[in-house]
Amino acid sequence: MADFKLTYATMFNPPDELHAGFDKAVETLKKNMGKEYGMLIDGKEVKADEKFDDHSPVNTDWALAKMQKGGAKHAQEAMAAARKAFPGWSRTPWQKRVELLRKAASLIEERIFELGAAMALEVGKNRMESLGDVQETADLIYYSCYQMEKNDGYIVEMGKDPLVGYEARNVSVLRPYGVWLVVSPFNFPHALTGGPSGAALVTGNTLVIKPATDTAWIVRLLVDCFRDAGIPDGVVNFVTGPGSTLGQALVDSPEVDGVTFTGSFDVGMKMYQDFSKGRYVRPVILELGGKNPAIVSRNADLERATIGIVRSAFGLQGQKCSAASRVLVEESVYDELVSRLKEAAEKLAVGDPTEKATYNGPVINKSSYNDFKNFCEEISQGGGKFLTGGNVKTGGMYDKGYYCENTLVTDLPYSHRLWKHEMFLPIATIGKVKNLDEAMKIANDVNYGLTAGFYGSLEETDWFFDKIEAGVTYANRPQGATTGAWPGFQPFGGWKGSGSSGKNAGGHYYLPLYMHEQIRTLIK
Ligand code: NAP
Ligand code: MG
Repeated sequence: MADFKLTYATMFNPPDELHAGFDKAVETLKKNMGKEYGMLIDGKEVKADEKFDDHSPVNTDWALAKMQKGGAKHAQEAMAAARKAFPGWSRTPWQKRVELLRKAASLIEERIFELGAAMALEVGKNRMESLGDVQETADLIYYSCYQMEKNDGYIVEMGKDPLVGYEARNVSVLRPYGVWLVVSPFNFPHALTGGPSGAALVTGNTLVIKPATDTAWIVRLLVDCFRDAGIPDGVVNFVTGPGSTLGQALVDSPEVDGVTFTGSFDVGMKMYQDFSKGRYVRPVILELGGKNPAIVSRNADLERATIGIVRSAFGLQGQKCSAASRVLVEESVYDELVSRLKEAAEKLAVGDPTEKATYNGPVINKSSYNDFKNFCEEISQGGGKFLTGGNVKTGGMYDKGYYCENTLVTDLPYSHRLWKHEMFLPIATIGKVKNLDEAMKIANDVNYGLTAGFYGSLEETDWFFDKIEAGVTYANRPQGATTGAWPGFQPFGGWKGSGSSGKNAGGHYYLPLYMHEQIRTLIK
């Protein structure tokens, strides 16, 4: 395993040790399921009066953990703890913060199998995607540490004013805002909690973390890594409970100095509006949904296009913000690509995501499962045809969880609302276009602008990169048409309705979002 570096692009050919480590962790975990976990506030385990049982979408008989149903009172306590810890943490030399965060990242790596196994059970991600999410988290944290060092703590000596009789010194420093709120989604529970948390912490902010209710357990296991690394009490606080009550109380708290929210457009936009009701403008980093196109030219390598599109449409059951949910194909290669896509999609094994052969596990919960059925019905009514899929899976183990067929749709009129709506399920619509200009027009005609993929000639790729409205773009990539970004390689973020900051996580410009500038002029 020494030469193997796990990323979403390399995960298709892992060494055997990776499988062995994962299998062992699943076995151990299954014997220890159902424990109760507290919230973590000011370094203390905090219990709420109400609890909730966290069941696995793989098999709903499996109770993974008992979690706390926190409320407004816990929101307030967590904010107060983060506020109290801020002076100490923000004045800790940045080099020391880097050291502690590197320690946390290395603990995450040490626990990769345990965390990956829990992720597969709680999210329903296949094993390589689960291990990938854990490794990505460590790499995002390492990347923030690297940026802090590379920029020398963001302390910059400015020019001296041309004064006569005085000597001026001007220093620009970037300083943390204060208490930072991180609200994360279910689909990448580690990377999208740990990534923003790492950035907020290394820059000197203190934290309140609120995970998605569907993935409260696995995020608690991540928070344990921050605690075990020796990050002081109160610097990282963790609360669990419904978004509509606990989450809303956090957003409405006057104690929050900045927020990073990753999740759906509707919840994010509401948060943006609610957050703006504070006494003054505070930073909001929103990472929202996508409706990502893959464009295929007549000059494309159809084998690459097929494999890349199928991976991106159906990886994690289509529940990636970066999923390829729209496929736009030039007329002359349409029939051939469509038949290849059907064949490739039908080969994907749907089942228990902890098993080696499985590509697709279940979708996250009953409500997504019902959405799948409703969308398929709507597609049928709207004139769409199922090239493959279109039903939920039934019989045997499938009846225990939320399994859906990988679904490719053709002939749905471009005027249908589902060409623009993020379904967040294993459903992709395929459309024929007369030429690439038509494809680009359709591709950009949505509110979203997260990721996009293209397959065509080298000359055409220049045109694609120039015209496409998206923050993460790929050309001719079999590893994934629109998915599989990795920190340090493909910084990740969206344009338009897909993101608010215009600066991508795991990239050059990300850390400064967590700090405000102070210019220090001193006349000697
Ligand atoms: P979601 O339903 O929007 O929930 C996201 C988080 O917000 C959860 O922790 C949720 O808690 C919380 N929440 C809900 N209502 C809230 C409120 N009123 N105040 C504060 N917090 C609230 O999203 P999801 O279903 O977990 O994730 C899927 C979505 O995330 C998709 O749209 C996907 O495209 C997007 N996503 C974007 C990116 C990106 O980088 N751009 C990455 C991954 C996912 P509860 O679970 O308790 O409701
Ligand atoms: Mg669950």
